[in-house]
Parts: sequence; C-alpha cells; structure tokens
Amino acid sequence: MSSWKSNLKKKYDEHRHCPICGISIPPDKEFCSLECRDKYQGAQKKQNRSQWIMMALMIGMVVVMTVIMPMFGNG
Ligand SMILES: [Zn+2]
Repeated sequence: MSSWKSNLKKKYDEHRHCPICGISIPPDKEFCSLECRDKYQGAQKKQNRSQWIMMALMIGMVVVMTVIMPMFGNG
C-alpha cells in the first residue's frame, strides 16, 4: 500500500533512486525531475489528509466513549 514510502527508507550507497519512477539519480538529488517531485508531494499531501481524517475519527470515538457511554451507564 505504501510502497513509495518504504522505497524511501531503503539505504543507498552511492546513488539514490527517484521514489516515483525508480531510476538512479545523484545522491544530492531527491527526484529525477520536477515532475516526479510534484507527484511525490501530491501523494504525501493526500496521505497527510487521510491521516488527519483517521485521527479525527479516533478522537470522535474517544469523545463518544468518554462522554456518551457514561450517560448510558448511569442510566
Ligand atoms: Zn522520477
């Protein structure tokens, strides 16, 4: 699912690979082209947003559990 992320975490000796298209690039570069950088940042933004939604849902669950449930418990 998050293969582009695990690709980033691999260690490289003398060169890196573009996390988007996978071709070899110089170690001082992160991406082979601006196009790939844009794609990568787009994917990252998307993931950040879904993480926020997940967190909001978790907080909502906790609020329900701590606020609503005792109401029922106390009858
Ligand atoms: Zn690329």
